[in-house]
Amino acid sequence: IVGRTPEPARTRTTCGYCGVGCSLDVLTRDGGVVAVLPDHDGPVNRGHACVKGRFAHGFLRSPERLTHPLLRRDGRLEPVSWREALEHVARGLRAAVAEGGPDAVAAISSARATNEENYLLQKFMRVVIGTNNVDNCSRLCHAPSAAGLTATFGLSGGTDCFDDVERADCLLLVGANPAEAHPVVGARLLQRVLRGARLVVADPRAVGLARYADVHLRPRPGTNVALFHGLAHVLLAEGLIDEEFLRRRATGLPELTTLLAGYSPDRTAAITGVPADDVVAAARLFGQAEKPAIIYGLGVTEHLHGTDGVRTLANLAILRGAVGTGRGFGVNPLRGQNNVQGASDMGALPDLLPGYGKVTDPAAQARAERVWGTPVPRRPGMRIPEMFAAARAGELRALWVIGEDVCATDPDSAHVAQALETCPLVVCNELFLSETARRADVVLPVASWLEKEGTFVNFDRRFQRVRAALDPPGAAITEFAIIHALAAVLDADLGCSTPAEALAECGRLAPAFAGLSHERLDREGAVAWPCPDPDRPGEASLYRERFATPDGLAQLSAAPYLPPGEQPDDRYPLVLVTGRRWAHYNSGGMTRRTDNLLLDSVDRLDIHPADAARYGLRDGDPVAVESRHGQARLIVRTSDAMAPGQVFCAFHFPASGVNTLTSDRADTVTSCPEYKVTAVHLKALNPS
Ligand code: SF4
Repeated sequence: IVGRTPEPARTRTTCGYCGVGCSLDVLTRDGGVVAVLPDHDGPVNRGHACVKGRFAHGFLRSPERLTHPLLRRDGRLEPVSWREALEHVARGLRAAVAEGGPDAVAAISSARATNEENYLLQKFMRVVIGTNNVDNCSRLCHAPSAAGLTATFGLSGGTDCFDDVERADCLLLVGANPAEAHPVVGARLLQRVLRGARLVVADPRAVGLARYADVHLRPRPGTNVALFHGLAHVLLAEGLIDEEFLRRRATGLPELTTLLAGYSPDRTAAITGVPADDVVAAARLFGQAEKPAIIYGLGVTEHLHGTDGVRTLANLAILRGAVGTGRGFGVNPLRGQNNVQGASDMGALPDLLPGYGKVTDPAAQARAERVWGTPVPRRPGMRIPEMFAAARAGELRALWVIGEDVCATDPDSAHVAQALETCPLVVCNELFLSETARRADVVLPVASWLEKEGTFVNFDRRFQRVRAALDPPGAAITEFAIIHALAAVLDADLGCSTPAEALAECGRLAPAFAGLSHERLDREGAVAWPCPDPDRPGEASLYRERFATPDGLAQLSAAPYLPPGEQPDDRYPLVLVTGRRWAHYNSGGMTRRTDNLLLDSVDRLDIHPADAARYGLRDGDPVAVESRHGQARLIVRTSDAMAPGQVFCAFHFPASGVNTLTSDRADTVTSCPEYKVTAVHLKALNPS
């Protein structure tokens, strides 16, 4: 008798790669993944998934997975028991606090972690350690969105849900390449364009969707604010504004009008390099549309003036009355990582508590103290770059890094490595021995997104369930369990013993999440915040009555254009922009350990053919890329998608050293790094 292969088990969960939040069915058998299928009823993906979500799961059973805690002894990381590892960490934390006070300890949380894990970590830092030194990796990508959207509209999230955006008749896509970085959104946008929506793309590169654009604006990197002002100038000059909306629901028009006088199409062209006629054509398309929508990515935020970029881009929606009215679909950031929205929503930020109450606001403090039953620290904590600076200065004595390879992904990575080497205690929660884990004193093995319970928040503010399809390997456990276990070793009790209890407790502290629960999400699939009531739907599209600013009005920004921090010169004549590729995710820790490596196996330098010829470079040649900060080694790929004078590469292969090139200059408001503008020069290398 031949036995039948048992049916695979099916677990519905949310993708742990990009911020689109595709709902996936994970089929497992005998402790392994058989297949990952897109959920046909998925609220965002509707039966689609990309090459990452569907196929990049081989890392789960990689022989390189960390399966035991590691402790550094005599310079080497050696396997130890959980008890030994946690007692070492607890001793180190106690010593750090004894020597430098609670602010000598800091933690970096992660978009890879669930909401409940982020919530628990920030509670641990505030309640057990007594510091606000907790930040998350949104600092490196969308912190300017949080700051810019909050200042403009009052809440730290996109203004509309993607289903609405998809009904727009004109899409303004800025600084984003969704065809590669958010493929399911890219596909839905393309379908909308093929059905007749007009498309304006603003990006220095000819990104995938640019081929379908009515107008493709190619500003010089770092000149976004001037471009947005130029577009706004045309809207005003041609009467393409909603005067009634501006009178009733916005403030700041006189100051902006005065400023915009200096951004004629010709002056805009002089600053940005975009032809004046294209500025006018794009503004007319946007201004004459009945339902325009703005979708943007890291090409807006990762600049010296990234927050001004978000705010001045939002000006365009306000001038048109295309936000909070149903006559357009607002301003919507494409979040890079799966839970970058949620990590901030949960208060893993140095100045904000869960739900965005300020740590300096007595009412927010009182709410947290009521729920937690203990005083909370009042002084805002350190941001990630400040943590590294404090470590280098000997002021930070313990750093806990959760699920982020800071040595590979943070800018000016030589300085980051130096900070980790100087800090007396570095603890790293990881799946693999990453560049950061290699430098840690204690490495704690963790469960991946396919091995734990909780929730993520996607790019349009939807909470969705994350469910464990498999057990983690060896002695690896969830971040949630690690934080609880460490608190117990420190004789503290964090309460909320399950992820469901943690989300419920967060809802008691943050009214925007009060209507959410695991049980409700299990029933309804996805619910957008704000959702203050368990009996009412979440608000997918915001601000229909009033904006959430103190005066209830949308705030126009009259920030002037200021040049980027990095400028090309004779020695460094090219401008490097970094970003993501289709098959990989961030530092590549997961995707490089899957068959996606066959699709893309090396970081390449995209360069215009004319520039390549000038340097004597051909496709496939190795090249040294040098900046004022470091050197990387990449493989040349000539591409007409590049503008002359600009080069592009991703950061998925840490060995290439891309982030040694980038500077520690950062957005003046949020400290988000200026990843999108680095002056470089090239040196041809001999093929090895
Ligand atoms: Fe969807 Fe993004 Fe996951 Fe791809 S990586 S399946 S687009 S959530």
